[in-house]
Amino acid sequence: MQVQHQLGADIMFAFDECTTLHNTRKYQEKSLERTRLWAKRCLVEHGRLTEARSHRPYQALFGVLQGAQYEDLRRKAASDLAALDEDDVCFDGFGLGGALDKANLGTIVSWMTSELPVNKPRHLLGIGEPDDLFVGVENGADTFDCVAPSRQARTSAVFTLDGRVNISNAKYRRQFSPIVDNCDCYTCVHYSAAYLHHLFASKEMLASTLATIHNERFIVRLVDQMREHINAGTFYDFKNEFLPRFYFKRLEKNA
Ligand SMILES: [Zn+2]
Repeated sequence: MQVQHQLGADIMFAFDECTTLHNTRKYQEKSLERTRLWAKRCLVEHGRLTEARSHRPYQALFGVLQGAQYEDLRRKAASDLAALDEDDVCFDGFGLGGALDKANLGTIVSWMTSELPVNKPRHLLGIGEPDDLFVGVENGADTFDCVAPSRQARTSAVFTLDGRVNISNAKYRRQFSPIVDNCDCYTCVHYSAAYLHHLFASKEMLASTLATIHNERFIVRLVDQMREHINAGTFYDFKNEFLPRFYFKRLEKNA
């Protein structure tokens, strides 16, 4: 808490133990209690530091929910941390964390979100694949963070509406249009796919930077569009239009 207050982080996360799906049920129970006690200590210290640094902008503190694949533990984590109140210091939002297998992501997120207050943000930790973002949003997650878009960009994998493509492939050598037509990112506004292909072939550092800018923008635009479609009442229309096109190649391979 002290380090995060010194850094001036806008959103801080309470200390938690991130378990795996392979830990025993008994271990998960013990670990969950440890995380709850740490959450209490974090709130107390956060309250003290907020008061001591009251001339600084407020820093929000989120509690992190664990519980692996167990419904009762996930629900308990959510209701326990939502109820914590240390001298009127409560969590400002919640991080949905820990071991989440892709197949059960939506179910596990919905167990937690159904126990959480509706007026506080829910942040789904470490999720960034387009299909997982739809599942997260559908089940009540508000915000996300993930290394995947930048990590993939560094290996020349860039996002398009027709899925992830490898810009190092020969077919992009002479594509003098942007990676994605009408993409408003810095990379697409200024450079062609062919130029990015050339940078990766020449092992230029700039290749990773430009590809990362494009992938990050692609993901941010995707969640912006989800929000617009939620407001317009057309979220599922958007989902049914976006996902089949984005994963078409994968569907084709499995057919
Ligand atoms: Zn772009």
